[in-house]
Amino acid sequence: MPQKILNTRSCASFNKCVSFRHVMTVLALMASIIGLVSCESPKLIKTFYAMGGIPVNIIAVGLRDTALQRVTDEAAQSVKEWEAELSMYRESSVVNQLHKTKGSPVHLTEKGWQALQAALEAETITDGAFDVTIGPVVRLWKEAEKKGELPDSDTMQKALSFTGFESLVFDEANRSIQVKTHDPVTDNESESGFVLDVGGIAKGLFAEWLNDQIVNSLSPKEKSGLKKLIVDLSGDMYVRSFTKNDDCVVGIRDPFSSDRSALWGSLSIQKGAVVTSGTYERYFEIDGRRYCHIIDPKTGYPVANEIVSVTIVDPSGAMADALATAVFVMGEEKGIELIKSRPQTEMVLIRRDGTWVVSDGLQDRLKQTCSI
Ligand code: AMP
Ligand code: MG
Repeated sequence: MPQKILNTRSCASFNKCVSFRHVMTVLALMASIIGLVSCESPKLIKTFYAMGGIPVNIIAVGLRDTALQRVTDEAAQSVKEWEAELSMYRESSVVNQLHKTKGSPVHLTEKGWQALQAALEAETITDGAFDVTIGPVVRLWKEAEKKGELPDSDTMQKALSFTGFESLVFDEANRSIQVKTHDPVTDNESESGFVLDVGGIAKGLFAEWLNDQIVNSLSPKEKSGLKKLIVDLSGDMYVRSFTKNDDCVVGIRDPFSSDRSALWGSLSIQKGAVVTSGTYERYFEIDGRRYCHIIDPKTGYPVANEIVSVTIVDPSGAMADALATAVFVMGEEKGIELIKSRPQTEMVLIRRDGTWVVSDGLQDRLKQTCSI
């Protein structure tokens, strides 16, 4: 594959990649998306709030307002149901109840099962860098943030002992999971024990599920008018254009700007997930040191490296989301290797110093809109 260096100030390239100098992340902001979805038919947007108050935007071109309202209401209901099963922040959710079952199987719905299978696949292909069993450690860091104190090493070791897929048994026939009884199921109600945190995969997954659900729920007449559909879960998107040569254009945020609406550029995508993980927005400080929200499952500590933003484009919402998180953990070199091994996956990776790399599958899809 020939290389094309688009910017002579670039600092790195990998064989399916071209280097650039700056950073881009996918923009979740509704106004930008509205501005960037290019076509003549009216663009409509409906918003609901889920997952602790994040806006979920459904953006459609070529759909009547009443139809969009209907599918948005249905989407809100679906997200509520998925969250009730999969959110570690819901006391009664399945993923939050594992430790209380003392080794008994916990049943999942079809969607819940699909979610955990996607998480398992992500764990395998990232060699453990993406690991939804990280829940107890995520909890520990949330407490640390509240107290303003780093966790001590005993507490960390204890939390880590409740992580790892090897401690879980998946039963496909019964669509259930269980914690192996010989593993350290806690008797102490105040300890979290096993908790699955699907926060690093759920938004991408939900964006794809909702996009499919909406399209499938339209009448043939409604469907024939639909030109574009974007489901945007606060930056994790699943986009779909139904018109040949008229891609969805997704705004890209400048992660170095404190202005959330500052655009660096845009990506044109026909169909697929566009998901960004960034350390520039979600972080906390203890003793003047900044910690990000992505944890290295091997150490239990927040990742600290030169990456500031990773955008993944992939046909699978779950994989896009998981890989965006995992590349942070894997680091640039291993991350690029992984993306190179997947023909269906593209990436933009931005470093703290403002340099960046982009896979060649995105080079013609990327448009820079601000100066670097
Ligand atoms: P994202 O914003 O998609 O990168 O997801 C980050 C969220 O995923 C965090 O807030 C945690 O809830 C969870 N998480 C953190 N580290 C990991 C990890 N190594 N594997 C899977 N999920 C993680
Ligand atoms: Mg993610």
